[in-house]
Amino acid sequence: MATDVQIAVRKVVSVNPATGAVLREIECASESEVQAAVARARTAQQEWYEAGISKRVAILRRFQHLLHEKKSEIARLITQEAGKPYVEALLTEVLVVLDAAGFLAKNAYGLLRDEAVPHGNLAMKAKAGRIMREPYGVIGIISPWNYPFSIPATESLAALVAGNAVVVKPSELTSLMALELASLLYAAGVPKDVFQVVVGDGATGAALIHSEIDKLIFTGSVQTGKRIAQAAAARLLPVVLELGGKDPMLVLDDADVEVASSGAVWGAFVNAGQACLSVERCYVHRSLYEPFLEACMSKARQLRVGDGMEAETDVGPMIHERQVRNVEAQMEDAMARGARLLIGGARVGRGASNFYAPTVLADVTHEMRIMREETFGPVLPVMAFDQDDEAVRLANDSEYGLAASVWTRDRARGEALAARIHAGTVMVNDTVSCFGISEAPHGGVKASGIGRTHGRFGLEEMVRIKYMGSDRLPGIKKIWWYGYGAAFARQMEGFLDLQFGRGLGRRVRGAMRSAGVYVRKGRV
Ligand code: NAD
Repeated sequence: MATDVQIAVRKVVSVNPATGAVLREIECASESEVQAAVARARTAQQEWYEAGISKRVAILRRFQHLLHEKKSEIARLITQEAGKPYVEALLTEVLVVLDAAGFLAKNAYGLLRDEAVPHGNLAMKAKAGRIMREPYGVIGIISPWNYPFSIPATESLAALVAGNAVVVKPSELTSLMALELASLLYAAGVPKDVFQVVVGDGATGAALIHSEIDKLIFTGSVQTGKRIAQAAAARLLPVVLELGGKDPMLVLDDADVEVASSGAVWGAFVNAGQACLSVERCYVHRSLYEPFLEACMSKARQLRVGDGMEAETDVGPMIHERQVRNVEAQMEDAMARGARLLIGGARVGRGASNFYAPTVLADVTHEMRIMREETFGPVLPVMAFDQDDEAVRLANDSEYGLAASVWTRDRARGEALAARIHAGTVMVNDTVSCFGISEAPHGGVKASGIGRTHGRFGLEEMVRIKYMGSDRLPGIKKIWWYGYGAAFARQMEGFLDLQFGRGLGRRVRGAMRSAGVYVRKGRV
């Protein structure tokens, strides 16, 4: 019998942010579809793990080859769906993933193999110990829109090579890139149930957290990250949280203004400022302040804003009108509190354009939202400082701690200062590019997150550590088993003196007192 009850189907829509053209509409996966995907992943994972690391590494190499072959096509799709200039898509997405695949293919075997653990405690010398790394099972990945290919890809490759199955919930704004990643992985030989994409919005992400996944790797805003941490805590789900940033750039009095200003402009405007690692606060020594501002202004003026598909474009559109409004609100607050606008400060084009002009702001203060909240837009706010200590204090005066940079001609001085900055990464004389170093762990401190992705530590997040202790003398009762008494207590005192007593005499006496401990009679 026909029914007139309508079940509302949620959809996500991929839109080209430069043109507003709808690329595709896709139905959101329902809660039961998410659960079914995770169940299939769990079944498939066992065989994937048992296939062995050499097979998984071979598939990774095939993936790398296929991605390289399709690099231009993939980069164009990224530009269409996320807006960044084509060359940035090649550089900050495709190259990053190619390099990550290479790093994992080369190092996964060595990093994941069992490790012998020598024992220091004399009582434990009869045991052979080793650390084993086992896959979690099914890893859930929830990712954002700003690096719609490189973020889910680098995390998935690490999870897969370690023997996990993966279920990805991409951002509702950039589902197509995750589906593209799936096609490449399948073509390389990853079984369909071992890597799956569940398309959807926040509710689909929530369904993934409540499904039977064994660990979650989340990348997104602090606000959502906190919600996810709460949901995960309710079922003790282990999580890695890669959250937002408010990265400071410190330009010391001996910095090269020409180089540092180029670094600031690229670091603040790359991906239209929509990078977790982008320069969001810039502190410049007062002696260089005006020339630095002058240089940034003149470089910002040269940048061409437009559709990322055009080869001349330097700065593409922002992802969404909502994002532009957030930048406008922070700009309004900064201007009302006395910031000095040097260039930009408005949308490019008419109406509800997603294009925002590269903006340089001077004389900002920590009372302004633009120096406290993540802006995630093409704005470079600059402030002067007088002493290095003051610069460090300002850099650390933030709830975030993702990354930071120090600019100086004296590397040793830069590194000494960098060590005092509370952040997951500090670069000296560069910024943002740490994301493209596959060996470098990526992640933040404070509100910027928990755990790491990328490199050795990112791979370690994909495995459970198991200790295996194997006794070499299976026919002998342990010295600490029952059959206690005064004589055993004296032997144990001696045994402790032997191991920890100060001075040779004490240790020798300890050895004599404990001599019989290994052959103690009367053990139960
Ligand atoms: P977001 O937090 O709005 O969304 C991220 C993902 O979470 C999306 O897939 C979204 O659908 C999903 N989601 C939303 N609500 C959810 C819920 N209740 N349960 C489960 N999933 C849910 O972030 P965004 O706007 O997509 O991305 C921008 C943010 O990501 C910025 O703050 C940026 O700094 C941060 N980011 C951090 C890193 C990093 O590595 N630290 C990298 C890129 C982006």
